[in-house]
Amino acid sequence: MFIDVAEIPPEGLTLRGSSGSLVEVDFAGRDISPLTTLSVKEFELRVTLDGEEVTVAGSATMSYAFLCDRCGKEVQKEDVFPVMELLENIGSELPAERELAREELEIAFFDGDGFHLEDILLEQVLLSLPQKRLCSEECRGLCVRCGHDLNEGDCGCDRSVVDPRFEVLKQLLENKE
Ligand SMILES: [Zn+2]
Ligand SMILES: [Zn+2]
Repeated sequence: MFIDVAEIPPEGLTLRGSSGSLVEVDFAGRDISPLTTLSVKEFELRVTLDGEEVTVAGSATMSYAFLCDRCGKEVQKEDVFPVMELLENIGSELPAERELAREELEIAFFDGDGFHLEDILLEQVLLSLPQKRLCSEECRGLCVRCGHDLNEGDCGCDRSVVDPRFEVLKQLLENKE
């Protein structure tokens, strides 16, 4: 859904939607990696304009999925994301002291007539993802020898010599000598 900044009324916009409603939020054709699926279940957002600054605030319930970094299984999740986004028109010229504020506040930008709501919602999900995305903290991953899912039990392979973590450690120790 594209938000045309010129069409934001002085009192602001209230956008509300749920699956099957009239307001279209669609991630089709968008690069959502590392997510494998993403859809909005429900959202309520206030869009207000103050000079060149747009604020998008509210919350969105989204369901999404990603692949476990260790075993490759798809992990399905649904969460409520608070949204508080400040956007500034990149075309606007700012005095130097405002440039600093931009960096400190991590203000997002849009260029041109407006922005896509999908970009804002996708960002919330991506920011919430941990560096290591796992199906569970205890995930044992796949056997590096035969590819067996070790969460389903041991395969009996000898993995002691090819564990990449030990390989890296060994190299570090060798480089020191
Ligand atoms: Zn896993
Ligand atoms: Zn194995």
